[in-house]
Amino acid sequence: MKKFYLTTPIYYVNNVPHVGHAYTTLAADVIARYYRFKLGKENVFFITGTDEHGANVAQAAAKHDKSPKEYADIVAPRFMEAWKLLNIRYDFFHRTTDPRHEKIVQEVLSKIYKKGYIYEGIYEGWYCIGCEKFLNITDLVDGKCPLHPTREPVFQKEKNYFLKLKELSKIILKKIKEKEYVILPLKRHNEIVNRLKQGVDDISISRAGVSWGIPVPWDPNQTIYVWIDALLFYYTSIKFLSNHNRFWPPDLQLMAKDILWFHSVIWQAILIALNEKLPKTIFAHGFFTIDGQKMSKSLGNIISPEQLVNKYGVDGARYLLLTAYEFGNDGDLSLSKFTSSYNADLANGLGNLVSRVAKLCETSGFVHEISRRSRKFNKTLATSLEKFNFDKALGYIWKSDINWGLKWLDQEINENKPWQITDKKLLYLKLNLYVENILDIAYNLQPFLPQTAEKIFKQFEEHNIKSQPPLFPRIS
Ligand SMILES: [Zn+2]
Repeated sequence: MKKFYLTTPIYYVNNVPHVGHAYTTLAADVIARYYRFKLGKENVFFITGTDEHGANVAQAAAKHDKSPKEYADIVAPRFMEAWKLLNIRYDFFHRTTDPRHEKIVQEVLSKIYKKGYIYEGIYEGWYCIGCEKFLNITDLVDGKCPLHPTREPVFQKEKNYFLKLKELSKIILKKIKEKEYVILPLKRHNEIVNRLKQGVDDISISRAGVSWGIPVPWDPNQTIYVWIDALLFYYTSIKFLSNHNRFWPPDLQLMAKDILWFHSVIWQAILIALNEKLPKTIFAHGFFTIDGQKMSKSLGNIISPEQLVNKYGVDGARYLLLTAYEFGNDGDLSLSKFTSSYNADLANGLGNLVSRVAKLCETSGFVHEISRRSRKFNKTLATSLEKFNFDKALGYIWKSDINWGLKWLDQEINENKPWQITDKKLLYLKLNLYVENILDIAYNLQPFLPQTAEKIFKQFEEHNIKSQPPLFPRIS
């Protein structure tokens, strides 16, 4: 593997960034940072961005007395600011209103149309504007979209263009079986395979009544369905950025489970029709509740990335999101648990250990012989990280019983009581061991808590190690 291309979904600009967006984007950032170490930073390409077309965005813009583009121009930077705040280092922020994107989307559609994968038909059905998709009658709960119970689905009957998904789905099923691409976690793979086996219908890929979108090149009275436009986002930047062809196909695409069908079936159908290679891994994480309740505007419990960073600091927020529950499952973000985990693991755990060792070095006159050996990621940690198991990877630093990590070092110091050691040679030997272990911890923390790792390096890669203000001040 010489390159790693990964993507987050692109976020609708009808909403400002919240912790749900942050959760996926942070996970991608950790993986991107890890692969930059492993493969060299020039071999990693990490994109995120905003989804700016469709009725959903047009409605939100109208509410604010703005044109859709004006509105997108206001909201898209909010995402960039949020990612800067959380220290998320993407390589490219892409927007679907970028004319270079729009041009390639039209070219792709024309190509697929000419190859005979697109035909004209009539669509009728219930459409949820919140989801920007047609719902099956069996999806409706009391006549409403289960994800958007406050927004009435609209019955639509119109001329549309259709993609031959039924025909393509047979190829897709075969490719999944032959592991040409992987859908993770396994339970999601099973859901997708079962749904494909049940048979799928062709899907409409254009809209007659939505003006805010990219025109269908051969029929300007229709716009391209916003999902098709959005999926091609992962493709267009590769094409219009110079020297980026070598990154194709994506190695990892992350998203929440509600949009997995689009990312594991519809997306592949487009690419197969286009005769392009398929993304290698599609990973869908779960949903979360906030203190046991669904996050919603009406409950007023939407958490913004700013709120988390203001309370816990950048790396505090990163740590708490990554360890809240296993990535891939459903879980709960409990704010009271956040504070206790922060105090236990960061303030009293890592922060206390670091200040304890620094103080011992400072008061004993220890001179640190800076090691020139190159550090590596711990193998167990790297394996967990490559499986997107962030909680387990971090747990290895915090909880491992092997001669390494925080728990071990804490025990080692408590048992050996270095402050009682009078033999200078023995004491320095011990301190050297502690300092090297802390530097190893810092090395391994880099993808997860980059600022903390940097602070530790700065403090401990010195001959005369000095006490510094606490890494994680206690909070109440
Ligand atoms: Zn919906």
